[in-house]
Amino acid sequence: MAFVCPECARSFPAPGFCTEDGGALNDNAFCPLLGSTVGSYRVATLIGQGGMGEVYRGVHPEIGSRVAIKVLSTDAARAPSVAERFFAEARAVNVVRHEGIVSVLDLSRLPDGRPYIVMEYLEGAPLTRVLELHRPVPLGAMLQILLNVLDALSAAHAQGITHRDMKPDNIFVTSTGRTKVLDFGIAKLRPDIAGVSGATKTGALLGTPYYMSPEQARGQAVDHRSDIYSVGVIAYEGFTGKRPFDAENLYDLLRQHIEVPPQSLRELRPEIPPALESVVLRALEKAPGQRFQTLELLAAALRQTAPFLAPTSFVTLTGEPSSLPRPVLAAGAHAAPTAPTAPGYAATLPEQSVSPKRGLGGVAWAAIAVVVLGVATVVSAAVALVVFGDRDTVTVVETGPSSRGATPAAPEAPAKGVTSLKRVEAVQFLPKALELARRQVPGAELSSLSVDSPEADGSVDFPKSDGTISYTFVHGEQIVSVTLGGEAPVVAKSPVFNPMVAKVRPPRCSIGKVLKASGARGEDIVVSYGPAATWTVMGGDDVSMVPDDC
Ligand code: ADP
Ligand code: MG
Repeated sequence: MAFVCPECARSFPAPGFCTEDGGALNDNAFCPLLGSTVGSYRVATLIGQGGMGEVYRGVHPEIGSRVAIKVLSTDAARAPSVAERFFAEARAVNVVRHEGIVSVLDLSRLPDGRPYIVMEYLEGAPLTRVLELHRPVPLGAMLQILLNVLDALSAAHAQGITHRDMKPDNIFVTSTGRTKVLDFGIAKLRPDIAGVSGATKTGALLGTPYYMSPEQARGQAVDHRSDIYSVGVIAYEGFTGKRPFDAENLYDLLRQHIEVPPQSLRELRPEIPPALESVVLRALEKAPGQRFQTLELLAAALRQTAPFLAPTSFVTLTGEPSSLPRPVLAAGAHAAPTAPTAPGYAATLPEQSVSPKRGLGGVAWAAIAVVVLGVATVVSAAVALVVFGDRDTVTVVETGPSSRGATPAAPEAPAKGVTSLKRVEAVQFLPKALELARRQVPGAELSSLSVDSPEADGSVDFPKSDGTISYTFVHGEQIVSVTLGGEAPVVAKSPVFNPMVAKVRPPRCSIGKVLKASGARGEDIVVSYGPAATWTVMGGDDVSMVPDDC
């Protein structure tokens, strides 16, 4: 029997405090591994318990470095297939070697025969905890977490490795806000890496039911697209605060994965932009062939939605309850952003909706341009007045800024409830949108453009459809978005720099041509133009990337 310091792992013969660190000692009566030596490390404390065993913190007695030691439980160690799965983690991780995946340093057996792996020690908290701490999760922060996870997971997929157990518990968020994917324990390896038997048997129900793909739920063969579904569940939960499927019993839960369509994300959280909702729902398609076919496509589609999220929502989240999320630091040449100073900025951060469909309440700083049908109509507006003529002519008429005290002309047509925008083609309207943006931020340049629910010819028929057109423009650390929707365009300016927003040259193709090139048909199509002058078209049966080479 010994009493072990949870900090330095030194053993003492009697209870009390560590003479080195002053910490309270733990009795190892119930946990005989405490204080013992595993490989080069002394076991300091139990830090986690999982499906297959326990995770301990180990400390190097000489240099004080820390590791996490995962030991397979005695029961589990008896089953050869489980031990094999356990070692698959170490192998899988070593094949991939990505900084977003926890690294495995050693693998061996304890004197009693139980296998263990030694991993880098992570400070922080599982995503599960992070999501609980920051409700509602700022959309931009969640987006960045997903993109980081996708980056790591794509590296695994590139090596032919499917994780098969993606869930918030297996995504660790470090104290600096980086993400590390854990627990490749049930990863399916390529046969040449796994050995003859393969690391997991087809048909075995493995993984956590909440995040399980329909094909896993059916016990069918699983490929990398199963991870795409599970990431879809994580995304849904992160963005809305609610899992797409929940049930009283396992049978019902699995049945839901297999046949129940998820509820609209925007019903649960209206500030979620339509494009983001489409991306998540596509990842959650029941048939693997209907989902994004690769994680890169999913990541690209997610990235395209970044400009439509409130720039202030791009904060770094950690598992530290005391620390408020920090604005994301721009990498490279970009200067550090101006930190917002509002108290309670983190958890209570309002998502500023830029879609006029959902009201202007959150956009206090927005300048509003009132749009009216008919060329002759003049309506006062804070900054600009946009007059739509027939479908090919759109005129922007300047009115005096209200600060000059000029009394705007009395409206000749009702200003209230003006809803009759005509058909607008997003690329054609771009010069006007740019003009509106530059009144707010001179020098602003296009960053992205997105059309939700265009007609077959590429235009949005505003009076009829509930489609939207949104643009974002960027200049230095200023972002301006211009959104055309059912009632009035909103010009919104924000000073917080979002590192995912970059300039892009104006598109050469029309939306109609892009639609044609993609072959997408039907309703609920989202076309967006962004980074590297590429178009993403979601709709129909697939997502396609179309180069802007008209
Ligand atoms: P399981 O197979 O039981 O799911 P995990 O690898 O997910 O095992 O680990 C269980 C818990 O142990 C994790 O949720 C995490 O809190 C903790 N943990 C695992 N690996 C590490 C690590 N490298 N550093 C710190 N904590 C870890
Ligand atoms: Mg786990």
